[in-house]
Amino acid sequence: MSSFLIERLNSLEAYVPGEQPRDKKYIKLNTNESPYPPSPAVIAAVNGEEAADLRLYSDPTSKGIKSALAGLYGVDEKNVFVSNGSDEVLSFFFMAFCGTEVPVWCPEISYGFYPVFAGLYGTPYNAVPMEKDWSIDYRKFCSVDGNVVIANPNAPTGMTLSLCEIEEILKTNPAHLVCIDEAYVDFGAESALPLLKKYPNLLVVRTYSKSRSMAGARLGYAFGAPDVIADLEKIKYSTNPYNINRLTQKAGEAAISEQNYYDECCKRIIRDREYTAEELKKLGFILTPSKANFLFARHPEMDGETLYKRLRDRGILVRHFSLAAVSDYLRITIGAREECEALVAALKEILGELK
Ligand SMILES: *Cc1c(COP(=O)(O)O)cnc(C)c1O
Repeated sequence: MSSFLIERLNSLEAYVPGEQPRDKKYIKLNTNESPYPPSPAVIAAVNGEEAADLRLYSDPTSKGIKSALAGLYGVDEKNVFVSNGSDEVLSFFFMAFCGTEVPVWCPEISYGFYPVFAGLYGTPYNAVPMEKDWSIDYRKFCSVDGNVVIANPNAPTGMTLSLCEIEEILKTNPAHLVCIDEAYVDFGAESALPLLKKYPNLLVVRTYSKSRSMAGARLGYAFGAPDVIADLEKIKYSTNPYNINRLTQKAGEAAISEQNYYDECCKRIIRDREYTAEELKKLGFILTPSKANFLFARHPEMDGETLYKRLRDRGILVRHFSLAAVSDYLRITIGAREECEALVAALKEILGELK
């Protein structure tokens, strides 16, 4: 830390992304990326001709993506915000609607970036305790004195809230925003999008990083009431007007034309999630009922860090969190079928050594 950093940020603890190692080839089940490539139209869209146009600025309105998303999800373009990864729209949410003035309420165990944004913008942060089985009791988010941010499905537990529960949270907090982070919604949760017409305090945040196989393109989006979206636009034009680069705009628009391809990928991931969960249960693992593209699992006879290290030695990367409450757990991304099988085989070996 230099002597120049402003005092308020001295104690900021930055987000730590999952490792992206280059020392050797791993089976990467640690950052919830898709095992499948983007659809053919995406790959065709990011071509040499487009690269030549990189001398030009990108469209600051991201019109192409906005109208494609509006068409696919049946909303107006005025309801759509497009961001550089969903992390950016989450950052803008804290900047625009929380700041130092409005507290935020989040589940205690959730996406690690929420408390980081709160720290960055000086937002009073309320971590709401989880239930024993890692579920979220929606009643703890009703009539709170501030904004709410909940990932649904939640990360790293994969557990979901129902639409009725989310509606109760929206209904009881009419003077504040409720942000539902749907990064994993395509793997089996109910989207809150249908509630948008009834609740102007709803912001639904989505990403291309998981179910649309485009983590490296950095593309996120959000649905909200037109005035909420306009506020987010104001923040964007005050920080980074060209937030989506030209290649990502082409790719993001093309992806929407091939929804069937992505539905098929999600179906496979769901099938392989259920397969892997069953196999892990047979090995004695305890799992949450995940509706995401990952499993959250612990083994009663081996702690999370040991399991993580032994898998790593065998060329398989999973995510382990040092936070005490979840340090017994692994978060395991669902890869292609062969990768899931390799994981199960490696775990069999590792646990076999106990006997
Ligand atoms: C992965 C993830 C995001 C961020 O995704 P981007 O790559 O920035 O779009 C947001 N929220 C949750 C819960 C995530 O797991």
